Amino acid sequence: VTFMAIAPEHPLVGEIIESNKNKDELKAFVEKTIKEDKITRGSEEGEKEGVFTGEYVVNPFNGDQVPLYIANFVLAEYGTGALMAVPAHDQRDFLFAKKYHIPIKVVIQRPEKDLDPETMDEAYVAEGNLVDSESFTGLNNKKAMKKIIKHAEEKGFGEGKVNYRLKDWLISRQRYWGNPIPIVYCESCGPIPVAEKDLPVTLPLDVEFKGTGNPLETSDSFKHVPCPRCNKPSIRETDTMDTFVCSSWYFLRFCSPHEENQPINTEEANYWMNVDQYIGGIEHAILHLLYARFFTKALKDLQYINIDEPFKNLLTQGMVVSNSYYSQKIKKYYSPNELSDDKKICPETGEALIVKLDKMSKSRNNGVDPDIMIGKYGADTVRLFMLFAAPPERDLEWNEQGMEGCYRFLKRVYRIASDFVSSGYGDRYQGLGLNDIGSEESNSLNNSSANLLRQTHKTIKKVTEDFIHRLHFNTGIASMMELVNTLNSFKAESDTDYRILKVSIDILTRLLYPVAPHIGEEINRMLGHKTPLHKGAWPNYSEEWTQDENVTYVFQVNGKVRAKEDLAVSLSEDELKDIALGHERIQQWLDGKKVVKTIVVPKKLVNIVVK
Ligand SMILES: [Zn+2]
Repeated sequence: VTFMAIAPEHPLVGEIIESNKNKDELKAFVEKTIKEDKITRGSEEGEKEGVFTGEYVVNPFNGDQVPLYIANFVLAEYGTGALMAVPAHDQRDFLFAKKYHIPIKVVIQRPEKDLDPETMDEAYVAEGNLVDSESFTGLNNKKAMKKIIKHAEEKGFGEGKVNYRLKDWLISRQRYWGNPIPIVYCESCGPIPVAEKDLPVTLPLDVEFKGTGNPLETSDSFKHVPCPRCNKPSIRETDTMDTFVCSSWYFLRFCSPHEENQPINTEEANYWMNVDQYIGGIEHAILHLLYARFFTKALKDLQYINIDEPFKNLLTQGMVVSNSYYSQKIKKYYSPNELSDDKKICPETGEALIVKLDKMSKSRNNGVDPDIMIGKYGADTVRLFMLFAAPPERDLEWNEQGMEGCYRFLKRVYRIASDFVSSGYGDRYQGLGLNDIGSEESNSLNNSSANLLRQTHKTIKKVTEDFIHRLHFNTGIASMMELVNTLNSFKAESDTDYRILKVSIDILTRLLYPVAPHIGEEINRMLGHKTPLHKGAWPNYSEEWTQDENVTYVFQVNGKVRAKEDLAVSLSEDELKDIALGHERIQQWLDGKKVVKTIVVPKKLVNIVVK
């Protein structure tokens, strides 16, 4: 500690000024500073200003006398409004000490041991070990904090305390779209709250929006009301609350939306809360999320609810990014539409453009109009692309080729369904569902039908987990694309094949529906269903059918791969040997040779050693 600073608003300031020989200078500084914006004053960037009081204070840890300043960056509402400055390790203290030529003393040394006040150009605020700190020297600074507090408590000159950086929040706004502040100003009674029976105060409709000033000022019916206490003509408060006031607790109101007599029904709120999933941009992490948690905790302390934390899960979604094209010479961003096909050369100067991925914004001219995309590809494709291109917490890179791919995928789904309907089997299997495929039927399927059925079950499982539990829409969609590949190459030859095909297309439609509802519902009708998909149940899968029953075996002769075959996992070693030795492509390698031995590696390979 090389100096001490107190806020201009500090209660001791008056006393200090009165007895000071530089009374006028101090007074002028205090009067000027208290009028300044506190956020700027307290920030690291704000210009540091202060005056030396001529007084010294004693550091109780080592008895040192240090000068006492009144400084603009010390705020009365934070902590005690007074601080002991450690300029080597706090940037604001550092800037102040530099400006007023106050000594800077390193007391936390970094591992390189090279911090020197003479050469430092900013405060060192990371971890390190204490130096020049008497009995605390050598300790890690984080650990030392506890010991130092304990020492102060033992000696009786201090105690540990947690300071929250809470500041007053001015909630009034001169806007229409906020909650009215329920106060009426009466000439006789002063500001009077609106009677509880008249709450909530609702916004008036006879408002004129002029583009300037508070629109509520223009509504006579809103503004002129009788005083709630004496009934004399009075004026209603026209400021409204910051919209954050309402968004900080609306989820509690949603638990009992028809409640007439109070904002929150405690029983209902306790029953329905918490909110399972919170989704928002990263900007919410410091604003709405903080306010909503604060309101919830305050309402709990006031016993309106018994919930401590409002939200169970947080997902901060990524941004949509795309290439921006910048000309350095004329300092201008080009829209991709203004550029030639290679999109590298500035059309006005001929220079190479700076191309980089940027958050989509008007100023960078790299936005994409969703209406144009929807007009070109349809809303289902645009939605599918956005969910498929990246997991939601990552940035989504916009590219039209990806959009084309999704468009082709949906067209393929549609074609598979319409081919099925025109096969003539559509009518015959109306109403057939996954549950109608009994175990007897499913166990007697040929290979390709069994594979399709198995993959259908697997896809249900994957999409259910990815969509509902992990919010990883991209991998869920990818598994549907795999199912579509299988469907695409599936050749139905028997009635049973068609039954499985029908069930699989049906399931695919249901899984796809949340992502592509328009095409999903159209296929649903095409398949003859009368119930719209949004009223249908989410499909179930059978765990047994999500297991791979077949594995691909490699057949080797003298260690060289000569054939491959998909075979049931349940086959015994002897059965596998017989299949390998009898395989027509293996037999040509055995011709005229003697089999010395046959090695089976379960679920992998059969190697035949010949001489
Ligand atoms: Zn009154």
